[in-house]
Amino acid sequence: MVEAVQVRGSDHPADWWLMRPDGRIECRLCPRLCKLHDGQRGFCFVRRRAGDAMVLETYGRSSGFCIDPIEKKPLNHFLPGTSVLSFGTAGCNLGCRFCQNWDMSKARELDRLTEEASPETIAAAAARLGCRSVAFTYNDPVIFAEYAIDVARACRRAGVKTVAVTAGYITPEARPAFFAQMDAANVDLKGFTEEFYHRLCFAELQPVLDTLVYLRNETGVWFEVTTLLIPGQNDGDAELDRASDWFAAHLGPDVPWHFSAFHPDFKMLTTPRTPPETLSRAREMALSKGLRYVYTGNVHDRIGGSTWCPSCGALLVERDWFELGAYGLDGGRCKACGFEVAGRFERTPGRWGARRQPVHLG
Ligand code: SF4
Repeated sequence: MVEAVQVRGSDHPADWWLMRPDGRIECRLCPRLCKLHDGQRGFCFVRRRAGDAMVLETYGRSSGFCIDPIEKKPLNHFLPGTSVLSFGTAGCNLGCRFCQNWDMSKARELDRLTEEASPETIAAAAARLGCRSVAFTYNDPVIFAEYAIDVARACRRAGVKTVAVTAGYITPEARPAFFAQMDAANVDLKGFTEEFYHRLCFAELQPVLDTLVYLRNETGVWFEVTTLLIPGQNDGDAELDRASDWFAAHLGPDVPWHFSAFHPDFKMLTTPRTPPETLSRAREMALSKGLRYVYTGNVHDRIGGSTWCPSCGALLVERDWFELGAYGLDGGRCKACGFEVAGRFERTPGRWGARRQPVHLG
């Protein structure tokens, strides 16, 4: 546990904790179940014991807002071509050595959270800016669940959708309240063995698999899965074969799966970039198991980045990175053969393009 240091900010009452017989408070939000004495912070850094209660320090505070293409989350089957108002806070409940957002997720300086925004302010801004959704992203929204849930509620009142970009590292008792407010999610499946999660994420695989199965079987949340393929760590044929079998058996053929390219970052600076062939090999493996929508990401790859009709093979949504090209869907149906593609589609795609646009809500 991390000892408290002096930081600016207001404490918000936290949910999902209990007082243990030994006098420590146990946080029940994520599978770490941090056990805290007064003044101690959890592993995620932003949840702290204050007296005989837990508090969240990042409620209402953000590291900044940006309008992104929805394809960047990545979500390929959720309102394609639309813009999403994206933000994150600080901290994370995983400890990935390959973190690609470490400046925010590992932030220990809460003073860097410069933007203050109420749930209503965010929902109103999204509507005003023409964003169809708000995304909790850049760092994991599970650790700021109380804030994310309130923002999502405000968004629903304003007719704006919400997207959680998450590692899915959350307890069974917190899952329902969190995902009940979300319209869509992208869940990281970072590797396929407990050994990988222990060694490189300082976490466990099984709770992530449980979250995926929960989303599939017990919610109406539209979700897609992302796996960052790291050379020599999680890209072996045997591992990909096993993972694809599990995916097909537990999530079915219609959940999209994104294989994205690693670039050297954080504590893995000597590991090389993922070769495009590795992404294509993983995609082929997953397709061979009957999965219908498997994508490559973080590379220019028209074949692997586009959506193809599982029935007649027609090009349905052409993509080059985050830019849409030809569009062969009418609503959610293939224009050529009428096959219904899983996802949330409107009659025509959005026209946001690949732009990223920072915005200030103040
Ligand atoms: S949410 Fe934070 S404090 Fe709670 S168990 Fe997870 S890492 Fe620990």
